Parts: sequence; structure tokens; C-alpha cells
Amino acid sequence: MLCNYCEKSVLGASPITVPGIGPAHDVCYRTRLTSERIFNGLNIASLSDVDLNELSDLVLMEKNSRAHSLHASNDEFEIELF
Ligand SMILES: [Zn+2]
Repeated sequence: MLCNYCEKSVLGASPITVPGIGPAHDVCYRTRLTSERIFNGLNIASLSDVDLNELSDLVLMEKNSRAHSLHASNDEFEIELF
């Protein structure tokens, strides 16, 4: 069996099966996802500018939220105002 990305044998190199693609090295698959900017099945490169900005905002909000809940974990009654 050959890796569908680098076309080298996948035997003995922790092969995975990519749906719709076939056998591949795990590392080749991950490299491909990064180069095509795909995250959890979402092709970020295909988003419109508006959608990309929205996604960017959502990621920031989530990161802020997590950082905040980390610091505020001892203060359950704090109310977050936007
Ligand atoms: Zn490969």
C-alpha cells in the first residue's frame, strides 16, 4: 500500500485510512490539513472574508472565556458583562 500524499509505502509507518482518499501516513495527512488550512473538516481557506472574521472573533472570544474562567475559577458568583 502506498501513501496517497507522498506515494511511499505506508507499511510499518503507522498508516491511517483517510475517508475518500485511502491509505496515508498520519504525518502526511496532518501536513496536508495544515497546508490546506482545514480544521475539523472546515476548510478555512474557502470561507468568505465575513465568515473568516466571524470565526476569528469566535476563537478570540472562546480563548478569552477560557482564560477568564481559569483565573475566576474560585469566584463562582462573578457575572461577566459585555
Ligand atoms: Zn506519506
